[in-house]
Amino acid sequence: MSKENGWAAAGLAPEDARIDNLFAAGQPLISFEFFPPKNEAGSEQLFQAIEELRPLRPDFVSITRTGGGTLPTLDLTARIQNELGFRGASHLTCVGHTKPEMAEYLDRLWDTGIRNIIALRGDLPGGQLLTDTENGFCYASDLVPFIRSRHDFCIGVAGYPEGHPQCLNLTRDLEYLKLKIDNGSHFVITQLFFDNADFYRWRDAAQKMGISAPLVAGIMPIMSVAQIKRFVLMCGAKIPQSLLVKLESLESDPMAVHAAGVEHAINQCEDLLANDVAGLHFYTLNRSKATVLIEQALNVKR
Ligand SMILES: Cc1cc2nc3c(=O)[nH]c(=O)nc-3n(C[C@H](O)[C@H](O)[C@H](O)COP(=O)(O)OP(=O)(O)OC[C@H]3O[C@@H](n4cnc5c(N)ncnc54)[C@H](O)[C@@H]3O)c2cc1C
Repeated sequence: MSKENGWAAAGLAPEDARIDNLFAAGQPLISFEFFPPKNEAGSEQLFQAIEELRPLRPDFVSITRTGGGTLPTLDLTARIQNELGFRGASHLTCVGHTKPEMAEYLDRLWDTGIRNIIALRGDLPGGQLLTDTENGFCYASDLVPFIRSRHDFCIGVAGYPEGHPQCLNLTRDLEYLKLKIDNGSHFVITQLFFDNADFYRWRDAAQKMGISAPLVAGIMPIMSVAQIKRFVLMCGAKIPQSLLVKLESLESDPMAVHAAGVEHAINQCEDLLANDVAGLHFYTLNRSKATVLIEQALNVKR
């Protein structure tokens, strides 16, 4: 791996990495999400996937913050941007962190040239809730203005077409999304969903409420039945009955499940692109095959 592809080597300044400036062109953005690997084998798989995805020329890639922040999200985002030349966005969860800790972390992000943050609350074990607004953060809407007060980052936040699992109702959830936007964030990436009707209903309601920020659709290609059932349980998304029945009928044949997952994602993305989606954000799970197949079928002009 060389630094020849790096951001500075391409004559780009950190400010050129801002994602918000890209939406103005009116073309849907394409982006990929990766998570920090836990070991050497995972690291090899990740960097191989990144190189296989390079020809798709994503507008940005984002790196999740997992393991309560013990895994190196910042270093990985910096490496992917500064050495490999992809516009990087670092996920940042605030739950369980103090304001001084967060301030120091934000300074490090800024100093490494990262200009995009996906600002999140994160989850405490067992679904506990926080109430300490004095030294810490209860919600992502508290984190957003804190980030803005520290440095002029471009900020993305999470949205939930089917409602966040802890939300009181969809309207209240959208009111809190609006608060995140009003507090200074620039765009929204949604939780994965499989029925576009949920996304369109949510997008209409958001727009009626006065949310004008770009709403990027989160797409997860289904790769295995057991895995998707686990994810859906965690994030509260629904699998449409017809898709579930189809997947379960193919369960003994992993390649057929993969193919059905890819086919569903292609149909979903084609429909979203035909309906003016602001962007498609692929949850890659550090693998390239499904995303490459989907993008080839979509043939998005880059
Ligand atoms: C695109 C995307 C990326 C993600 N990346 C990561 C990651 O890298 N690492 C990770 O650990 N998790 C990640 N998550 C999961 C996320 O951390 C969880 O869904 C978490 O439970 C909520 O985070 P949030 O930022 O959406 O929270 P918030 O926006 O704070 O909302 C959380 C809940 O609180 C409610 N709420 C919000 N504001 C208020 C308020 N002021 N008063 C009362 N209730 C309020 C909301 O309705 C919602 O039910 C991601 C999710 C998405 C969609």
